[in-house]
Amino acid sequence: MAASAPPERRPITDLHGVGPRQAERLGRLGVTTVADLLFHLPLRYQDRTRVLPLGSLRPGDEAVIEAEVVQAGTHDGRRRSLLARVADGTGWLTLRWFYFGPGLQRSLVPGARGRWFGEVRTGPTGLEMVHPEAMKEGEGDALTPIYPATEGLTQPALRTLMERALPAAAELADPLAGEGDDLPELATALQTIHRPPPEADTEALLEGTHPARRRLAFEELVARQIGLRRLRAAAGAHAAPPLAPTGRLTNALLASLPFNLTAAQERVAAEIRADLGEAHPMQRLVQGDVGSGKTVVAALAALQAVEAGWQVAVMAPTEILAEQHRASFQAWCEPLGLEVAWLSGRDRGDSRRAAAEAVASGRAAIAVGTHALFQEGMAFHDLGLVIIDEQHRFGVHQRLALREKGGGEGRWPHQLIMTATPIPRTLAQSAYADLDVSVIDERPPGRTPVETVAVPDSRRPEVVERVGRACAEGRQAYWVCTLIEESEASAAQAAEQTAAELGEALPTLHVGLVHGRLRPEEKEAVMAAFKAGELDLLVATTVIEVGVDVPNASLMIIENPERLGLAQLHQLRGRVGRGSAKSSCVLLYHGPLSENAGQRLAVMRESDDGFTIARHDLALRGSGEVLGTRQTGVAGLRAADLQRDADLLPAVQQRADALLERPEAAEVLERRWLPEGERYAAV
Ligand code: ADP
Ligand code: MG
Repeated sequence: MAASAPPERRPITDLHGVGPRQAERLGRLGVTTVADLLFHLPLRYQDRTRVLPLGSLRPGDEAVIEAEVVQAGTHDGRRRSLLARVADGTGWLTLRWFYFGPGLQRSLVPGARGRWFGEVRTGPTGLEMVHPEAMKEGEGDALTPIYPATEGLTQPALRTLMERALPAAAELADPLAGEGDDLPELATALQTIHRPPPEADTEALLEGTHPARRRLAFEELVARQIGLRRLRAAAGAHAAPPLAPTGRLTNALLASLPFNLTAAQERVAAEIRADLGEAHPMQRLVQGDVGSGKTVVAALAALQAVEAGWQVAVMAPTEILAEQHRASFQAWCEPLGLEVAWLSGRDRGDSRRAAAEAVASGRAAIAVGTHALFQEGMAFHDLGLVIIDEQHRFGVHQRLALREKGGGEGRWPHQLIMTATPIPRTLAQSAYADLDVSVIDERPPGRTPVETVAVPDSRRPEVVERVGRACAEGRQAYWVCTLIEESEASAAQAAEQTAAELGEALPTLHVGLVHGRLRPEEKEAVMAAFKAGELDLLVATTVIEVGVDVPNASLMIIENPERLGLAQLHQLRGRVGRGSAKSSCVLLYHGPLSENAGQRLAVMRESDDGFTIARHDLALRGSGEVLGTRQTGVAGLRAADLQRDADLLPAVQQRADALLERPEAAEVLERRWLPEGERYAAV
């Protein structure tokens, strides 16, 4: 590759084999230059280094096998398939293909030897691998990277492209080079990450603690730190409308609530109250475990702004969650004579126009919605406060877009951000270096902890019966389906099938279904019916993970919980235990469990506290198992993990300080690691 331009400016089509179609697919992954590709990091690795004897295989194992074909042929079942029985002296296994060509068929003659990689599962006649990958000579000497992929772009294709791009790593700008760290050079680090050499420390790579990974994590954290500091400085220099509290509306709300605030809610509400009175924009993050009562704290902030004569926008990342806030804010604020406007992504036409008009004219004091709130054409009359729930689902840049809508006369609205992501305070300050942090570290009284049990799926019929009994007693239940490769389509299919089966097994129950493939209005209708008690049982994918509040739902079944990480399990379980009824959660696992999965389920049985669970999560992470990928990322980090890499943070702070004095170097890092919207935000 003739080094014409640096990789940062070399288009991806410069690589051999990348035409317009491939470039379009890469573009979907955010890859447009050779440098982008080099920073397209593996999500995880597969360990194909160890060949397992057939006799030792168990369902669920991902394994490399080396065996001899004993017998092969096609089979006309419901779908025609090609079957090969293979053996290695310790046992035998069936390989199965539904799609196959004559070449493959010819190669599978009795006596032929081969090496295959695949997932072991139970088939009609014993253990089998469906569509095993035939392994090439030399492959499997080292870990195999698995990349974020997209339709039409396979893992082998990505690996080949990476191979072609890697020589360019040496030409990347490296602003952190040679400043005496004991971490490897950038190019070496990338080489190791994308093409782990056989002698590399496998364990460390799988766990994300390898120096190569830490080198990239360090860069990313420095970039993030620089970006956030610039944001904070910009906000501090800006004006915001001071929102003096009169207590007229907030006191009325407090008087109308059927409960008293907890001490933690009081404290956080006071911190917010003080911030809002300032002439600079509040930038505060409220962190509180699921069920800690963040919404009412947000409502108090909203009413203070309204008292002072300003509007409030309340934004949530999903329709379901936004709808939840609409219900709360309407219930609390309409009796006080306020109009609450509703702006969702799906509403078009008259209702949308009416809502937008109420907001633009200033008649609606509070606007609740999804990202529709900051879309083109939305104008606020006098926006003084923006409240954002579950911020990690939004990029920083979306938060900034809403800021543009407000304040008037060049002023910015105040911002209140709420998250349930339990990260320790010191880390929060680093993750959200542009924010002040308040923590609601106490739960409302009278909650009985959710009783959690783990039950093997061989006892599924008992669990189904239990659901039937609970619903007969007037309780409501969730049944959550999980999948490993969470494509929306396959998750939806699994949930549909489960809903059909449960409907058949429990014919007297009203069973609803939500998954990510439904249209928003369908999703919402199902949720509304569940909330209204018209449905007894809600079968769902993990789309219900965030924020849904149905106090009467007191039983949750999570299928295949061993596939989820602790953080996600905790979020899911937080959907029950919200009312006064005793709640339970059944972790319906598929055995045999790996040691790590067993420990995760044990933590879930024993603890109900987000911080405790987060600590265990850290200790149990990264065993190389397939976990949901989302749980690993706080604030959308790509290489770093704030908990795992916490020890880097002091050095990150120092380096960020130094780099702020070198704008060109800082810019290289910001371009590399921060999404576009965040980069220009501070200027
Ligand atoms: P989260 O922090 O997960 O958003 P919510 O704000 O949805 O929690 O609150 C969970 C439930 O607890 C709601 O039904 C809410 O009305 C109730 N709640 C909030 N604060 C208190 C309190 N101090 N005492 C009793 N119940 C409360
Ligand atoms: Mg909430």
